[in-house]
Amino acid sequence: TFRAILVSRNEDKTQAVRVEEMSEADLMEGDVTVAVEATTVNYKDGLAITGKAPVIRRFPLIPGIDFAGTVLSSGHARWKEGDKVVLNGWGVGETHYGAFAGRARVSGDWLVPLPGTMTPLDAMAIGTAGYTAMLCVMALERHGISPDRGPVVVTGAAGGVGSVAVSILSRLGYHVVASTGRTSEEAYLKELGAAEIIDRDELSGPARPLGKERWAGGVDAVGSHTLANVLSMTSYGGAVAACGLAQGMDLPSSVAPFILRGVSLLGIDSVMAPLGLREEAWRRLSDDLDRNKLSALSTMIGFDGIIEAAKAIVEGRIRGRVVVDMSA
Ligand code: NAP
Repeated sequence: TFRAILVSRNEDKTQAVRVEEMSEADLMEGDVTVAVEATTVNYKDGLAITGKAPVIRRFPLIPGIDFAGTVLSSGHARWKEGDKVVLNGWGVGETHYGAFAGRARVSGDWLVPLPGTMTPLDAMAIGTAGYTAMLCVMALERHGISPDRGPVVVTGAAGGVGSVAVSILSRLGYHVVASTGRTSEEAYLKELGAAEIIDRDELSGPARPLGKERWAGGVDAVGSHTLANVLSMTSYGGAVAACGLAQGMDLPSSVAPFILRGVSLLGIDSVMAPLGLREEAWRRLSDDLDRNKLSALSTMIGFDGIIEAAKAIVEGRIRGRVVVDMSA
């Protein structure tokens, strides 16, 4: 048997969270069974465990949207016992039993190979947040936003997506402007490679249709007024990759940046991203992310710390990435 976090729904529609002993027979359908060796606590997992947003769409459910581990058994052509794998998204931790358990059974189509240079803990220090940050950077590159075009802004910079985005972009030679509400994290963000730090208050109020052109592009994990301001301050022909909603789901913007400056808004989804893009992102992460910086931006916890970390992340009390060592 193994331990699992199980979220169920009470009759009054409130959620209950408990730790349960389960066996492989309790898992959902799938053709690959994996020993979960590492996982992580994302903002979305925080929303799922606290019930603050309807992330969980079937009850009861094991939350946890990503994991890394070793294949125990497989009926899938691409995988065999002993293979090291990573999983992000595909509804795992939302509609399918997720990562916060000793074992996971999933479709082999959802797995990517763990890059040879990484341990399961390395991969989860990156996690969905880091892999999403990489998808954002790849989207900016496809749009031609190279370092010589000018600075790039990263919002929610001290969070998971933001920290990894700052780190990758600076490694690739971009001049990174990091926007954060935690100016106490200035030293940390500079360590990751930020060239400038701005207070997120500068971006969190209502946006003018067009502002002063401050950056060629950006990675936005915050949404709402922040994204509207980022767009209004993007220079001619620039692009912004939008992946998050930490400030809100709304976008109180105007078409001015699009029709007067040719700015593009690039939507980033990590959950249903096609396999080719995922494989490329994980390959790039193994090359373009400084491993020392990665350990500087992660905090290690054990299985017993997951529920507390989930609460902390929705309250904005987590810096960088939380890595769960399932053997601890
Ligand atoms: P996180 O670690 O909690 O980071 C979010 C950061 O946003 C916080 O650290 C904070 O940064 C900033 N923030 C929080 N509340 C804010 C507010 N009210 N106004 C302005 N800024 C605020 O979460 P994460 O795991 O990195 O995820 C970031 C976002 O991306 C989440 O919305 C998540 O749902 C989304 N996401 C989307 C995808 C996708 O597939 N599209 C994948 C992964 C994550 P500072 O402390 O630096 O200000």
